[in-house]
Amino acid sequence: MLQDIERVLISEEEIKKRTRELGAQISKDYEGKELVVIGILKGASLFTSDLFRSITIPAELDFMRISSYGASTKSTGVHRVLLDLDYTLDGRHVLIVEDIVDTGLTIKFLLEYLGQRGPSSLKVATLLDKPTRRKVDVPIHYRGFEVPDEFVCGCGLDYAEKYRNLRDIVILKPEVYSGK
Ligand code: 5GP
Repeated sequence: MLQDIERVLISEEEIKKRTRELGAQISKDYEGKELVVIGILKGASLFTSDLFRSITIPAELDFMRISSYGASTKSTGVHRVLLDLDYTLDGRHVLIVEDIVDTGLTIKFLLEYLGQRGPSSLKVATLLDKPTRRKVDVPIHYRGFEVPDEFVCGCGLDYAEKYRNLRDIVILKPEVYSGK
């Protein structure tokens, strides 16, 4: 796996430090509020766990899984909910946690979908933000890092279901994608 890495974009240490900062900010912002943190599987599972541990106020943790139809590395904006919450969000403050916001279509869908469940507030945290690829304008309230327009892996992000367990955010060698 390590031999497939071309270069490290963001190191494990940088990710840990930034996650702690975000956790501290979230704890401050939601003090005294009923917070539900919703991680989006599978990509955000690792970041959600680390971020959740950095939150020092009482909070609930849940996960959703959605899939977008279409080519595997391109988001089409047509989504299907594969794992849903089985309760309403009435009166609760909801924080969606994503691995990366790329075109923004997934977050747009989630904001509309969860917005119908009556939350008191609905915000977005993402480990990575790739703003150059945005197709729709979406709010990002807590952002780990901005990344260039390159396909990245590690810290939960995969290529063909591999590389999620890399501790750094990396760019893979081109031959990994061409299968050579
Ligand atoms: P969006 O709907 O914002 O275009 O895409 C969001 C999803 O696309 C992410 O949750 C992630 O699964 C996938 N994605 C977008 N860019 C990348 C990338 O650079 N690397 C990986 N591994 N997945 C990405």
